[in-house]
Amino acid sequence: MEILAIEGGKPVREKLLPYGRQWVNDEDIDAVVKALKGDFLTTGPTITEFEADFAGKVNAKYAVAVSNGTAALHAACYAAGIKEGDEVITTPLTFAASANCILYQKATPVFADIDPKTYNIDINDLEKKITSKTKAIIPVDFTGQPVLLEDIMAIAKKHNLVVIEDAAHALGASYKNQKIGSIADMTEFSLHPVKHVTTGEGGIITTNSKELYDKLSLFRSHGITRDTNKMLSNEGPWYYEQLELGYNYRLTDIQAALGISQLKRLDSFVEKRKEIARQYNEAFEGCGELITPFQHRDCASSWHLYVLQLNLDLLRVGRREIFDALRAENIGVNVHYIPVYYLPYYQKLGYPRGLCSNAEALYERIITLPLYPQMSSTDANDVINAVVKVIKYYKK
Ligand SMILES: *Cc1c(COP(=O)(O)O)cnc(C)c1O
Repeated sequence: MEILAIEGGKPVREKLLPYGRQWVNDEDIDAVVKALKGDFLTTGPTITEFEADFAGKVNAKYAVAVSNGTAALHAACYAAGIKEGDEVITTPLTFAASANCILYQKATPVFADIDPKTYNIDINDLEKKITSKTKAIIPVDFTGQPVLLEDIMAIAKKHNLVVIEDAAHALGASYKNQKIGSIADMTEFSLHPVKHVTTGEGGIITTNSKELYDKLSLFRSHGITRDTNKMLSNEGPWYYEQLELGYNYRLTDIQAALGISQLKRLDSFVEKRKEIARQYNEAFEGCGELITPFQHRDCASSWHLYVLQLNLDLLRVGRREIFDALRAENIGVNVHYIPVYYLPYYQKLGYPRGLCSNAEALYERIITLPLYPQMSSTDANDVINAVVKVIKYYKK
């Protein structure tokens, strides 16, 4: 069924405005072309340069670039020593990858509920879910707002747990003026086109631990080393040893070249995102039907997503109708996220509905608005006008 704009009228926009989009410029393209003409298409010096740039950008000692953010989470779970029989606590309000990486290591994902204000993992519920089997925590900086890292690191220390921060949304964010990527034991970032900077596909893990860095590096490339200090023997210049069962999770030099070029514009990308979020906040703050994203005073979000919560008590319809009406206005709204354990694969594993009531209740009320650096303020105004039009029409 085609959904018409309200009362068959003209939509606010003629063409669909996407919810997220990369920004690739001529400099990026030149960098990629240069890499293509170089000696290495993969695993050359460009990877090392990208890792150094990235680590510098987030104030971490080490960075390991891999083929995508999911591979980065998998590598981090491996490096944390997560194995069969272990439990790992994460949030249900995330992309499936945050929990899938636990299953890759044959461990059990345990879901702690969210804080209904910040939408990030609830610290009290997190601590309640810790058992003698808990090995690690994978908190997610939802929408780019960091989790309360001081509390999480303190809980982890008390219970001897590894913290793998899923910062796929939070490149450029900070917590108490410290860069995200420099605080947790390991921090994972995604370089997918909708994220802050892109390499097409790509992911990266940052850490301050040499031991974890070595494990991550080994895992990325089959578990194979040529480092004579690590090998059991050495039969000659051709010789290498496989010490662990790793994967081929390497990023190419072509992608790394794009990453280096993109990273130069990270600060301006984040600024633009903040500006649009500010525009949205100002437009919606006085509107009782809408709840704008709450920002904790210790956290500076990098605004990967702008998630608007509907106050359904004041509306005649549910989220579905509001969503459809906004799409009919050619606003590319989205929903982040379906609680992970609602997904059929997780249902088959036996996670009951009702497990995390705050996350479930929030899921019924959220809509993600378009937000990306290349959006103009006219684009943002179109979004605002469409939201105001739809809410006005559907309010009680
Ligand atoms: C994007 C994303 C990932 C990783 O995604 P890839 O597409 O594999 O790079 C992981 N967690 C969250 C929360 C994400 O949004």
